[in-house]
Amino acid sequence: MKISSRVFHRTSLNLAGLYLAIIMCISLVFSIAQYRLSTDEIDRAYRRQENFSMHQPQFADSPDGQQLIQQHERDLISVKHNLLIRLIGINIVILVGGGLLSYYLARRSLQPIEAAHEAQSRFTADASHELRTPLTVMQTEIEVALMNPKLNLDEAKKLLLSNLEELAKLTALSEGLLHLAQIDHNSVEYKKLDAKAVVEDAIARIKPMAAKKRIKFTKDLKSASIAGNHVSLTEAVVTLLENAVKYSPAGSTVQITSNIRSKHYELSVKDTGIGIKATEQAHIFDRFYRADHSRGKEAVNGYGLGLAIAKSIVDSHGGQLSVKSTPGKGSTFTVSLPIA
Ligand code: ADP
Repeated sequence: MKISSRVFHRTSLNLAGLYLAIIMCISLVFSIAQYRLSTDEIDRAYRRQENFSMHQPQFADSPDGQQLIQQHERDLISVKHNLLIRLIGINIVILVGGGLLSYYLARRSLQPIEAAHEAQSRFTADASHELRTPLTVMQTEIEVALMNPKLNLDEAKKLLLSNLEELAKLTALSEGLLHLAQIDHNSVEYKKLDAKAVVEDAIARIKPMAAKKRIKFTKDLKSASIAGNHVSLTEAVVTLLENAVKYSPAGSTVQITSNIRSKHYELSVKDTGIGIKATEQAHIFDRFYRADHSRGKEAVNGYGLGLAIAKSIVDSHGGQLSVKSTPGKGSTFTVSLPIA
């Protein structure tokens, strides 16, 4: 069992113990009160019986009367004894049932925390792995170059260029991680803004990249006022446009349209690229997830963080990011944001 699982198991037991202690305290107080009230009631009934016998001395002194009084006393003790046994029985049932219920409730209350903790550990492990790869590449290249006594200027320049590429990857990755951390801590400012301006800014940023692949954008955009952070939302739209360009063939067209539907601004980015398999669609919004085709022989640059960041941004604006895709035909990503 992993250390964290053991800690959660121990915490569940402690929490269950606490729940059970509370249940048992209530049950015992209730049982003692019940016992007291019932025995007082029985004692009162017995005394009434005794008083009645006292008022009939000839009967009380007779052997039958004496026998009856002794019988009543025995009954009284037996009734109290039975009551005590029954209350102890009920408390044992509450102890066992309450114990099981407490453990179940403790596990249930801790499950979301355990899941969040696991996700955080997975994220840290993935992030460290992704950070290590460019660093290892740089270290190996530098070591090999240093071992070469005849290293000339051209080779040194090539090494520096390659190092620069790795540094650019590290910068992009650390920026992505920082962005995620900011969204996780809700440290972005929200203002009233025009959704159309956000999309236009994003298109302007991706145009040079699209031009390199001769990819055209067609747009049909509406204005709408939304509450949000301009920089973050632009980042989210840039990711969708960048992916549409990255995963589409050269010379293709990407359609960008927006609509207003049930008080929501809906932006769609439709490409005619490679598409995403149904089994992979559920995971593409996970941090560090990359579909098979992105890692294959025709690998496309990326860390699998873009959509995770875009989704976090859209979620933090109270919106939704979804995808519809057919492998080999293309994908449509839709962002839906509430109108201010
Ligand atoms: P990456 O940096 O790998 O592009 P993203 O988080 O942006 O990371 O996307 C996750 C994965 O989703 C990508 O690796 C890719 O496999 C798939 N994907 C995203 N957008 C598209 C698209 N428009 N067409 C096809 N696949 C896509």
